[in-house]
Amino acid sequence: MPTYLRPAGLDEALAALANAKLTVLAGGTDYYPARVGKPIDDDILDISAIASLRGIRADGSQWRIGATSTWSDLAEAELPSLFDGLKAAAREIGGAQIQNAGTIGGNLCNASPAADGVPPLLALDARVEIADAAGSTSLALADFILGNRKTALRPGQLLTAILVPKPEHGARSHFLKLGAREYLVVSIAMVAATLETEAGRVRAARIAVGACSPVARRLPLAEAALAGKPCDATLGEFLRAEHLAGLAPIDDVRASGEYRLDAALTLARRVLSCLGAQA
Ligand SMILES: Cc1cc2nc3c(=O)[nH]c(=O)nc-3n(C[C@H](O)[C@H](O)[C@H](O)COP(=O)(O)OP(=O)(O)OC[C@H]3O[C@@H](n4cnc5c(N)ncnc54)[C@H](O)[C@@H]3O)c2cc1C
Repeated sequence: MPTYLRPAGLDEALAALANAKLTVLAGGTDYYPARVGKPIDDDILDISAIASLRGIRADGSQWRIGATSTWSDLAEAELPSLFDGLKAAAREIGGAQIQNAGTIGGNLCNASPAADGVPPLLALDARVEIADAAGSTSLALADFILGNRKTALRPGQLLTAILVPKPEHGARSHFLKLGAREYLVVSIAMVAATLETEAGRVRAARIAVGACSPVARRLPLAEAALAGKPCDATLGEFLRAEHLAGLAPIDDVRASGEYRLDAALTLARRVLSCLGAQA
């Protein structure tokens, strides 16, 4: 019989992971659909009862989002406009049942190119906190997701939290996703951006695109081009196709690569113009 562990404490979970090869289970909304029709014989470490892994709070110079915070937790949390993009993504992930069970940590660890949580977190300059029985460390989200379904997590390690730095200047974010229909759909492309503004101009812009490369990525050329630009509803017009350099979308059943690039540019312009108009 496979083992099923559901500890209430993080130390207990990390000790169990150090001593045996266990598959981590959070909300199970990626884990179970990937195993339909197959026997489930993994030894399971269910982390959903560990209270210290869930919740969102300000912590000195950063925000801390526990790895097992659900999409509903995020959508319903009272957070500054810095998090508007992440909250918008939370409301578009699956339906209510998925949002109630699926976690932000599971979304990152599953490392799908179409994971909707990744672009908003890249645009927030997020880091991830990783723990094992020996202690904890953190690394940039961009260094955590290494490829399609590939992360930097090593055996014995758990993703424990997502850390978001508090910006020095006024900041807000936004997220738009395109799918074949409005809800319950895998993204064709999605864009998130965070705009830090000062005296009506862009102080810093962070823009990330998902589903257009094996791992969602930032657009450094676009970010550089936007610095210092006046914030208004025309901000998106500064964006050019060449600013999307680095994206490499594939052709698949959902869309062609060419369509994805076009969609990413249009979404990015809309996201920026929306943020510009609000600043
Ligand atoms: C109907 C449906 C609709 C969906 N719609 C969307 C959508 O619109 N957008 C989207 O992005 N996703 C969508 N998903 C995918 C899924 O719901 C999300 O990716 C969700 O956030 C996964 O979280 P989870 O807690 O359920 O992960 P789980 O299934 O529990 O885990 C996923 C993977 O991560 C590992 N893992 C989980 N937590 C940790 C941790 N803390 N440390 C180490 N490893 C960990 C697990 O071992 C597993 O490999 C959908 C899924 C379904 C079934």
